[in-house]
Amino acid sequence: MNYDAMVIGSGVVGTATALGLAMKGFKIGIVDQSSSPPNSPRHLSVNKKSSKFLSSLELWDEVVTSSMPYSKIQVWDREGTGRIEFSSEDINEKSLGYIIKEGNLQKGLLNRLQEYDVDFFWSEKLTEMKEDKDSLILYLDSGKKIFSKSILGADGLNSTVRKLGNFKVKSWSYDQSAIVAQIDSDRDLNGIIKQSFTKYGPLALLPINKNQMTMIWSIDQEKINDFVSLKDEEFIKVLKNEFGEEIYNPSISSERIIFPLQHLTAIGFAKKKIALLGDAAHHVHPLAGLGLNSGLGDAECLVKLFDSYPAISAESLFKKYNNERLPTNVGLAAAMELFKRGFGNQDIWLKTFRNSVFKLVNREKDIKKIFINLATNL
Ligand SMILES: Cc1cc2nc3c(=O)[nH]c(=O)nc-3n(C[C@H](O)[C@H](O)[C@H](O)COP(=O)(O)OP(=O)(O)OC[C@H]3O[C@@H](n4cnc5c(N)ncnc54)[C@H](O)[C@@H]3O)c2cc1C
Repeated sequence: MNYDAMVIGSGVVGTATALGLAMKGFKIGIVDQSSSPPNSPRHLSVNKKSSKFLSSLELWDEVVTSSMPYSKIQVWDREGTGRIEFSSEDINEKSLGYIIKEGNLQKGLLNRLQEYDVDFFWSEKLTEMKEDKDSLILYLDSGKKIFSKSILGADGLNSTVRKLGNFKVKSWSYDQSAIVAQIDSDRDLNGIIKQSFTKYGPLALLPINKNQMTMIWSIDQEKINDFVSLKDEEFIKVLKNEFGEEIYNPSISSERIIFPLQHLTAIGFAKKKIALLGDAAHHVHPLAGLGLNSGLGDAECLVKLFDSYPAISAESLFKKYNNERLPTNVGLAAAMELFKRGFGNQDIWLKTFRNSVFKLVNREKDIKKIFINLATNL
């Protein structure tokens, strides 16, 4: 068996790519180190462009029923007076995007893949890749040997494909860790995402239904241990104090999970018959909720480019893929860096400047539209 593409990683990006290609009739395999299909409890924001791509995979109608649409994003500087509100009305839409349980997306994608002749290799790790004449030979830790005409590395931040392919990276720590937890409230959240730039780092509350939220609080590294050691009631007290707006009767209804935050961009997303997608290629700060969206952007781009395959070789397609996706993701990384540094700095002049920018953007509808279009169409 010689596959058209072997996808390493069954996260949302890998499975969405595999499904898009299988729907076009290509012979696809998926390798994942997990022993069973993933079912992540995390909630993530999915933008308009991603929802359109998921519709083209005939999956959206199923996942949208369990998702929470949001129509507004309110952002403010806790250390100043700046405040911005982005509304779906600014772009004449009903919603700006959706909050979705990652596990529902994963399940939906894997169910759709069952309709195609896709081979799954669970509990398998890629250990080596070698170039053959027209193919790559992939060696798995069980001893299996697979032939594939191309390899798609969607194996996340610590990608083995990236390492085995000798891709160079630019990477640094954001010196923050995100605390993620579910917060309940006794008021209707009205489908509004709220983000406060606190003195410890950005704190976002994303509605996952009428009165429950996912909290993502990126905390400066030197303070993280203080937050981890707090009991739930103490944590809620700090949350209420720092948020800068009433959170009606909040309580924690899940464990608090910690994610160390790191920037990573591969210097080049493709090499010969290998392409990197999603977190394997780029990983940014979660403050704008765009990491998965840009990964799905990679998947959509690659699936479209495969329309010309095999008339055009995988190597040529991957060059085009690299030229399309690298600038977008480098731009996103730069924007996240600017936000992270801009709000991490307590210099009085910078504080004054950023509050003026907030006010300007909030006043000017055309500038606001540019921001919304960038965030919803990445
Ligand atoms: C706190 C936090 C909040 C976030 N919120 C948002 C948000 O609201 N919206 C958004 O768009 N993004 C968000 N992100 C980013 C988003 O979570 C990631 O960008 C996205 O999940 C990456 O998906 P992926 O499929 O590329 O990788 P992953 O989901 O990491 O999947 C990688 C897969 O590869 C497998 N794998 C790894 N190594 C191997 C190997 N050697 N062999 C075989 N298999 C392997 C793993 O088992 C896994 O199944 C957030 C990130 C964080 C940290």
